Amino acid sequence: MSKVANIQADVEQLGRQIFDLADKDCNSRSLFGKKDLYSRLMEWSMQDPLFKTQMFRFVDVLPNLRSADEVVSHLSEYLNDTKTPVSTFLQGALRIGSFIPPVSAAIIRKNIVAMANIFITGADNKSALRNLRKISKEGARFTIDILGEAVVGEREADDYARRYRSLLDFLAEHTQSWQASTPIPANEPPLVNISIKISALCARIHSSDPETNIAAILSRLKPIALRAKELGAFINLDMESYGLKELTLELFKRLAEEPQLSDYPHLGFVIQAYLRDSYRDTEKMLKWAQQRNRQFTIRLVKGAYWDFEKVFAAQRTWEVPVYTSKIETDANYERITRLILENRKYVYPAFASHNVRTISCAAAYARTLGLEPGDYEFQMLYGMATAIRRALLSLGYRVREYCPIGELVPGMAYLVRRLLENTSNEGFLRARFGANTSITELLRDPASQLTAKGGPLIPPADNAATTKSVHPRPTPSDSVASFTNEPPADFTSSSVRKKMVLALQSIRSKFGRSYPCMIAGRPRISRDLLRSQNPARPEEIVGLISTAAPGDVVDAVAVAKRSFANWSKTVAEDRCHLIERLAAKLRQNRFDLAAWEVFEAGKNWSEADADVCEAIDFCVFYAHEMRRLSKGRLTQETAGEVSIESYLPRGVGAIIAPWNFPLAILCGMTVAALVTGNTVIIKPAEQSSVIAAQFMNLMQESGLPDGVANLLFGNGETVGSLLVVHPDIDFVAFTGSRQVGTEIWQMAGVTHPNQRNLKKVVCEMGGKNAMIIDTDADLDEAVLGIIQSAFGYQGQKCSALSRLITIGEIHEELVPRLTEAAAALNIGLPEHPSTDIGPVIDQAAFRKIQSYIENGKREHTLSYQGHIPSELRGFFVPPTIFTDVDPASRLAQEEIFGPVLSVHRAEDLDKALKIANDSPFALTGGLYSRSPRNIARVRSEFLVGNLYINRPITGAIVGRHPFGGFKMSGSGTKAGGHDYLLHFTFPRVVTENTLRRGFAPEIQRQSSADRG
Ligand SMILES: Cc1cc2nc3c(=O)[nH]c(=O)nc-3n(C[C@H](O)[C@H](O)[C@H](O)COP(=O)(O)OP(=O)(O)OC[C@H]3O[C@@H](n4cnc5c(N)ncnc54)[C@H](O)[C@@H]3O)c2cc1C
Repeated sequence: MSKVANIQADVEQLGRQIFDLADKDCNSRSLFGKKDLYSRLMEWSMQDPLFKTQMFRFVDVLPNLRSADEVVSHLSEYLNDTKTPVSTFLQGALRIGSFIPPVSAAIIRKNIVAMANIFITGADNKSALRNLRKISKEGARFTIDILGEAVVGEREADDYARRYRSLLDFLAEHTQSWQASTPIPANEPPLVNISIKISALCARIHSSDPETNIAAILSRLKPIALRAKELGAFINLDMESYGLKELTLELFKRLAEEPQLSDYPHLGFVIQAYLRDSYRDTEKMLKWAQQRNRQFTIRLVKGAYWDFEKVFAAQRTWEVPVYTSKIETDANYERITRLILENRKYVYPAFASHNVRTISCAAAYARTLGLEPGDYEFQMLYGMATAIRRALLSLGYRVREYCPIGELVPGMAYLVRRLLENTSNEGFLRARFGANTSITELLRDPASQLTAKGGPLIPPADNAATTKSVHPRPTPSDSVASFTNEPPADFTSSSVRKKMVLALQSIRSKFGRSYPCMIAGRPRISRDLLRSQNPARPEEIVGLISTAAPGDVVDAVAVAKRSFANWSKTVAEDRCHLIERLAAKLRQNRFDLAAWEVFEAGKNWSEADADVCEAIDFCVFYAHEMRRLSKGRLTQETAGEVSIESYLPRGVGAIIAPWNFPLAILCGMTVAALVTGNTVIIKPAEQSSVIAAQFMNLMQESGLPDGVANLLFGNGETVGSLLVVHPDIDFVAFTGSRQVGTEIWQMAGVTHPNQRNLKKVVCEMGGKNAMIIDTDADLDEAVLGIIQSAFGYQGQKCSALSRLITIGEIHEELVPRLTEAAAALNIGLPEHPSTDIGPVIDQAAFRKIQSYIENGKREHTLSYQGHIPSELRGFFVPPTIFTDVDPASRLAQEEIFGPVLSVHRAEDLDKALKIANDSPFALTGGLYSRSPRNIARVRSEFLVGNLYINRPITGAIVGRHPFGGFKMSGSGTKAGGHDYLLHFTFPRVVTENTLRRGFAPEIQRQSSADRG
């Protein structure tokens, strides 16, 4: 500790020296000083955040724009929203350019390319060589990163690996003469040095199956590393997002433990100090090194994905894995700096930072340990902080530049990251060169700033992100305050994976049990048994189901009707408590429930887990909503009269649920009915009866009074129909096919003489969902979005994508990448953690989908069809893609409910919208575009219940994406939204005249209309 306290003077002294030298370096390109486009952009972006967003978005899309008109129109669309003098200036320039777009576009392109060239060393190996030589001549070193598009297929991953191998050979050959003239000292890492991103070596990374990922990545990485060893080169594994961290560290260990590499010291990995668990990770890696007496390099960075990590975690309600204040990151960086310097025996430290405080601190602490400048190195990004690099070199430090090589399209993402970093409010470079913060301020010790702010002296580096929920779980007392979605299981954690494996084992041992109907809390066993099978292995019987007889339907309705009297009068708060207890039960049993879904519905791990989370969300959200509704509403402020609108339950409901979200939809419809005071008879889909039985069991365990919810198994035509037509059924909540939905709608419309209420039908049916791919779409994202939307859960989601509409020339570029990405999907048993595609639900579905495919083969172009491994005996249908499909054909108009995608070409957005809207359904839809004008048009003209822009079209989240469609997709109800509970109630208004002999009390704003 004393060493730490004492180095502040040294840090300041060195820091000032570096600043002095950097300030004197007039040859260096100042970040913010010049008057080229880059410098202006930096300046304007710092003045106007909206301009910054719009401009960087334009920079991102530019390389994908094909014509001059497109360039000009995109720039003016992006600048439309910005109101600063800057944009007025640019818009003026654009107006001139609009008469002669080619000239204007050429100038814009030239400037952006020049800007990219500041940060990108070369478009290819050859063109980069000149810049690498310059760096070497300055006395600096380099490490090379190959920029690439997101890898979506095996061929792309192979290609990436091949490019790295040839880069190694190229560098080894072309730097030989440099090494001859300036030999590399023995204690220095090799001159040929490359940095690799592991995500580029694997087409699909499954968080639930690290072993398979490691095997796939190693198969490509090992040959690169062996070649590096032959050539005496260095390999670094870059660190990407948090989701890949464990995998990257494990992969590094496996690579280093390979027998041929076990004595090779020139391997390295990255630690990101902005991660809360980075200190602990460093300790663990050091321990591993000590046990094996290994040496390696650690590149210590702060981390490049800070915004992403925050958004990604927040969207999943996971704990944010990064520090949320910059000084915590800085202080943690310095703490890890000390740790690795103290372990120099095992680690060659590479401090990657442009921050003079961070750099000086590392150098000063190294000095206190008696280390020399060559015992460690500094690393910087090519094109950033050149003056600081030169200052360090002149002081005798070793500096390595991180040099990206690649074309403009893949380079744009990298360029935008650099632009964001340089204009970040909290960044060092902006503080120093943009905001002129004082040197004293810039050299302050972050740890002491933390203490001054009341934070810990040492940032809490050990509290790894193991508990995943950001907020405490809602409890009955605080649930009104806010609603938080259930965090999905994080299968990157080995303990979470283990829970799933144990659940699968335990549930398998429960196969073949019998499940009775439940009426008034008592089992009703019948001799008429239905076998619920595992669609992946049809010979496996998951459970034996007692089907209901017509008499059971009569009894169940009578019981529900009797139970209504008490349940409807139960205080709303008590009903909410009970539903929240049910949520807690579901949560406790989440892995078991997910395992039942894997076996009975053929869902893979993450799909099964998502369904259980959604069920929990429905419980918590509807309880939350009921509290709001139960307060009632003062209709208008009128003197002398009070009118309160409140809601009555409708009565007895039939809940007719589908198999595709076997728990979530069943649970959502049931708890919406119960929490509003209705009683129900649940009729689950035959195919997912065992899951329904588990749900019923948990409702009973939660304390639901007998008779409030009753469960009848059986098929829809008999049990379902009997329920719908029963005169004492007041409403039907149905989710399923269009055919059954419209039949129910019709049956429910028939009134009986002794019927109490007009039957309400809450009806959610299917979709024939379309997605439009604009000419300027980001294909890296679009391809993955299409794959997820079309083939997730084998295309058996009502929200699934079945019609893909490409605009113009993008088709040629998209289709090969799409088929590659489809080929990378892993078809297998859903119980295996790496399975993407499991079976379809049953033989009938299998036959129906196959007949569409056979018909499609006759009428359209089969562009891709997956291959089912021969050992699979279940109802597996391969992902299938047809192109040149006539939009009016059966394939494009009828709901298939399987992994079949038809692709249509449209000349322009008008035609694309026409195709998209030409459907009897209106459920979900999507667009990938980077044109603000086209996005605005699609928003208003693509008529579906849920429209998604620049993201997949499946995976609606309760509360966030109220879900449901119109036309033949449904009656316009929105599950998981604010209006949903109203469908289960009758609104009622009570008006009281409060005027007595001319005197009226003051208006009471707070109503108390909870009629229980
Ligand atoms: C040679 C080299 C290699 C690199 N390799 C990788 C890599 O493999 N993986 C990777 O992720 N990054 C990598 N980086 C990028 C690096 O993480 C960023 O460039 C770096 O974070 C900028 O840090 P700085 O010390 O230069 O600047 P500073 O301005 O001091 O720090 C900026 C950083 O602080 C952190 N930060 C900003 N705001 C906050 C906040 N509110 N709360 C908490 N933290 C905050 C962020 O990490 C941000 O990038 C590399 C950088 C270099 C120079």
